[in-house]
Amino acid sequence: MKFQAIKGVRDILPPESALWNRVEQAARAVFESFGFGEIRLPIFEQTELFARSIGAETDVVSKEMFTFRARVNPAGTEDDIETESWEREGVAFTDRLELLTLRPEATASVCRAYIEHGMQMLPGDVKLYYIGPMFRRERPQKGRYRQFYQIGAEVLGASDNPRIDADVLEMLMMFLERLQLSGAKLYLNSIGCKNCRPVYVEKLREALRKVNDKLGADSQRRIETNPLRVLDSKLPEEQEIIETLPRISEHLCAECRQHFADLLAQLALRGIAYELNWRLVRGLDYYMRTTFEITAPGLGSQDAICGGGRYDGLVELLGGPPTKGIGFAIGTDRLILSLQKAEASEAGSAFAKASADKLDVFLVWFGAAAYPAAAKLARRLRSEGLRVELPADEMKFKKSLSLADRLGARHAVIIGEDELAAGAYSVKKLADGTQQKLKEEELIAYLRRG
Ligand code: AMP
Repeated sequence: MKFQAIKGVRDILPPESALWNRVEQAARAVFESFGFGEIRLPIFEQTELFARSIGAETDVVSKEMFTFRARVNPAGTEDDIETESWEREGVAFTDRLELLTLRPEATASVCRAYIEHGMQMLPGDVKLYYIGPMFRRERPQKGRYRQFYQIGAEVLGASDNPRIDADVLEMLMMFLERLQLSGAKLYLNSIGCKNCRPVYVEKLREALRKVNDKLGADSQRRIETNPLRVLDSKLPEEQEIIETLPRISEHLCAECRQHFADLLAQLALRGIAYELNWRLVRGLDYYMRTTFEITAPGLGSQDAICGGGRYDGLVELLGGPPTKGIGFAIGTDRLILSLQKAEASEAGSAFAKASADKLDVFLVWFGAAAYPAAAKLARRLRSEGLRVELPADEMKFKKSLSLADRLGARHAVIIGEDELAAGAYSVKKLADGTQQKLKEEELIAYLRRG
């Protein structure tokens, strides 16, 4: 039997994983400079947490979650719960059965943790970021996986000041700049609040009912279940009709209108470029007011690398205190794909290129007497932060150099009888074949210069 990774999930191998690490490191550095701390969340949670927060009618909850019934030990005392009994070595056990789900996103978990740990008692806004895999049973294609990765951040607290929204967007754009990702575009919208949105949704529903015949099956169904999602449609034949539909911007209440205007002013203050997109409604129920998305080049139809928005009231919906919230999630898989595309192109992202370097030094040694010196030198160079390969088996000179080259090493350092006698090492720069002899300290200084 031959095992393979299951459909829609994949391995991330070196050297690509080095780029992933550098991207994640950049996120940590930028987010921490804005006062965010990392939260490490569980991979699975009670199904109900996601159903309640994301919304039962959304695609994510209704179709895409990996849900399983698990035995949780021991059984609780309530008698309405499902249990399963089993026996081992004559002892009977009763486990409670619980519906659990592999997290399809992390905002719900962050809110759950916020409530569970009473974080509303902490001083100031609670600013958290997370990095890790998410799971959705979507149809796999380029840029769309069943296990994918997100880098996300959330601000939870008492204030819904649009300056917070602007700070979050500034942090996000600073992160993308740090990666030298060019061509990223920020799209922005406000989808109103619990006062004005339902009125708009009803207007939209009425308008949609009138054009029902001209819509595809998915949109027809959504007229009743979730009419906002019709605006997401990419079907070419629906585009013209959608353009004629009522727009949320014309139906915002005075508070939401002001909040959005203030946000735009704050973005201008920070020099952040954006484009308004009235159709940006996002697929999850908990969003209100500010919503945004970022696209990147080189990705084809799956070009959204980040989605986010404000979700005041979500913590309350999950049983916590009244709390405002805003956050985003970056799709790391797509971000990396876009960086790799840029790397391959003329313009090139120096960030991605730097990650492609794998090895500083390949040590070539001849004769058993040279090995201890090579091992000692390897230890010294590694402690200086250099990436060093020390072959365990002695090889012919030509074979060593060829392997060094294929491993992408920048230098070969040669240790043979002559070098041992002279107390100096021969260093060959593999890019141009130039060679020189250097003593250990000179060698380190030379390698450090690159
Ligand atoms: P969402 O909150 O659903 O908009 O997700 C935020 C970001 O996660 C998206 O903009 C994508 O970049 C990424 N993402 C969502 N679903 C997937 C998936 N199945 N595969 C890869 N990336 C995804």
